[in-house]
Amino acid sequence: MVAKVLHALRQRDLRVWLPQRRCHRCYATHASHDPSKLRNMALVAHIDSGKTTLTESILLRSKYLSSAGSVDTGSTTTDFLPAERERGITIQSASIPVRWKDWTFNLIDTPGHADFGMEVESASRVVDGAVVLIDAVEGVEAQTKGVWRQLDRYDVKSRILFLNKLDRAGASFRTSVLSVLANRLHPRPMALTLPVASFNPEDYARAEPGIRGIVDLVKWEVWKYDSEGVSSVHPLPRIQEELEASELFPPTHPLIPHLLPARIALLDNLAQVSEEMFETLLSLPEDPSSYLSLSASQILPHLRAATLRNEVLPVICGSAFRHVGTELLMNYVGELLPSPADVEKNNKISSSNAPLRALAWKVGWDQRKGWMTFVRVYSGVLKAHSGVLNSSRNEREKVGKLMMLYAAEAEEIDALPFGSVGAVMGLKHTRTGDTLTSVAGGSDHSSLRDILPPPAMMSVSVLPNSYADLQPVENALHALARTDPSVRVETQEGQLLVHGLGALHLEIVESRLREEWAVKFEFGRRRVSFRECLGPGDISKVSNIWSTELGGHAIKVEVSLNVRLLEDDEEGDRSGAATPASTLSSSPNTSLALSRLRIEVQGTKHPKESHASVLAGASATILRNIVRAAGQGNLMEPFIRLKISVDEGSVGRVVEDLGEHGGEVLDLDTGSEEDTEPFVDESAYIPPQWLSPTTGKAAKTLLALAPLSQMLDYTTRLRALSGGHGLYSMSNDDFRTVSSQRAIEILKELGRM
Ligand code: GDP
Repeated sequence: MVAKVLHALRQRDLRVWLPQRRCHRCYATHASHDPSKLRNMALVAHIDSGKTTLTESILLRSKYLSSAGSVDTGSTTTDFLPAERERGITIQSASIPVRWKDWTFNLIDTPGHADFGMEVESASRVVDGAVVLIDAVEGVEAQTKGVWRQLDRYDVKSRILFLNKLDRAGASFRTSVLSVLANRLHPRPMALTLPVASFNPEDYARAEPGIRGIVDLVKWEVWKYDSEGVSSVHPLPRIQEELEASELFPPTHPLIPHLLPARIALLDNLAQVSEEMFETLLSLPEDPSSYLSLSASQILPHLRAATLRNEVLPVICGSAFRHVGTELLMNYVGELLPSPADVEKNNKISSSNAPLRALAWKVGWDQRKGWMTFVRVYSGVLKAHSGVLNSSRNEREKVGKLMMLYAAEAEEIDALPFGSVGAVMGLKHTRTGDTLTSVAGGSDHSSLRDILPPPAMMSVSVLPNSYADLQPVENALHALARTDPSVRVETQEGQLLVHGLGALHLEIVESRLREEWAVKFEFGRRRVSFRECLGPGDISKVSNIWSTELGGHAIKVEVSLNVRLLEDDEEGDRSGAATPASTLSSSPNTSLALSRLRIEVQGTKHPKESHASVLAGASATILRNIVRAAGQGNLMEPFIRLKISVDEGSVGRVVEDLGEHGGEVLDLDTGSEEDTEPFVDESAYIPPQWLSPTTGKAAKTLLALAPLSQMLDYTTRLRALSGGHGLYSMSNDDFRTVSSQRAIEILKELGRM
């Protein structure tokens, strides 16, 4: 996504936006590194919601686009060869520091496509807060829920919702807020702003879409935007009669009578989750105008506390494309989202004397620069040219240079203090998800919570061009897997296989192998990754004893395993670190990876001082015997969720085609897939529909589920079905059990029948 932003930015003359050259050694040389001013945050969204556009708008508005002397001279970016520039971008796109007022935001990149799921996982792991974007025409979409759950999983509590694209026909502030409740994202969305579609009341009567202003209900001011997106901010009168007579709006503007009720609803709502706000409101005189008398500084601390506790979801609106709402959003990011110090309350940990603990959340490779490891410091200070311990692998590492990476350039720094994010050069063994700690004894060497890669959905065979290319290709694949743990490499029956998250992910793997490692190979057939479950056979007789010889002595190891299928409603959990992965990735029955197994280690007996590898070998063999005794189980295949937009005339053909390919239409009309009860909060403020005047959408949207294996050529198929006008997006859903008929097809396809 950041690569996309940079490309877009380079299309323009940037000099108009840029400030004078300045020094960016901020972390290292500014005496006052203040973690309370840091915001490690991500923008997350369903694809096409406008994340790239909003990032671009933030970079332009923050005037912090690049580090010293790069683009303001108009030279550096054009000095790169195109290919080098591209490569630079891929590496640097992990996070961008943005200075806004006296805050520093680290914008952590989170690609929207499900095929980059791993990067979203890692980003979610290191941020303290997030801005969730919603396309106000579409409301909450499949991947909005996906990224929402991901943030839940990593306990990223504080979020701000940005309703984007309010300038578009079909956009609705009301429907978008309702979709938050309907999809159970949050029970208390709280509109901090109201959109002003137009300052001309007739535009409302004509249902003319637009967004020319924003009312800030907290700060009680109105932002007006001219056609260039240049803003001016005007305080609103704090007395009801003056508000009605204000020249900020024409006297017949429909928003005027609505302003005070919206402010009252906001404050009353906040008072429900904030004792202090409740007290403040109680002390006000009876007159409704008294709600207008409260200053922003009387409201913001309570709003911030409620946001940090995740008791409210602040909602802001705008149009990233027109830069409407960008600055207002940045103010609220600074004011409401947590700093590292809010998340880690223990002062001992945030002090610079605390022992180091940092998490490697992304590993990049560059032919010129070598390995680059992106870290976040969770305690103490990481110093350049120091020794650290990779406590996840129990290996010492030598830290080389430390870098802050700006949009187009890297800046060397001396130290990364508590809470900060930056890149380390020179680490040799560290992989995404590893913990780095001080070498010194007495420090805490336990690992920080790891980052789990999403399950692979597709694989492809890799064919080196010649025998001499085999080793370089294997090395490159392993290096690539180090940068992206959602890539898994294995050799099956002499064939080199790469597993990835989807077709696009494998394409990226292919081009990275060629461009970054310059190895020679061809990709064979892409295959969907099927899975096998535990079979129905009797496993009670399988021996739990493994005998082997070690240094000339016969030894016996006993591992009692209780293995069963997960119940239908039981959630999987991949946390069992000691599971014998080799057995699970290839079943003795079908060679497919095993899925939905619950393995409980009930006890072990082994000679004293047996090495861990002996125990691992024993449990792998015993588990393999159990799976073999159970016989072949049900097969599963990955399903995807599709959102398809076509004109009315093509709907019939599209639905029929889905049926023929094992798909299922979930919803034909509303574009939502409600099977759960919506959140109902009678006190939540629901904006009226007329706030977003528009004549509505033209295309029909349908939601469907289908097997991934049947949708690999959907771009071409949909083009034919819809006369070239259809659009679709897909996101990974889950593995589903297939019918016995389909299982036979799959086994034939795999050459196992
Ligand atoms: P991403 O996939 O979330 O990064 O979305 P992009 O930023 O690439 O935007 C997807 C499309 O929506 C592009 O064609 C944008 O120009 C358009 N877009 C983004 N923001 C707005 C907006 O505020 N208003 C309108 N009308 N279009 C927008």
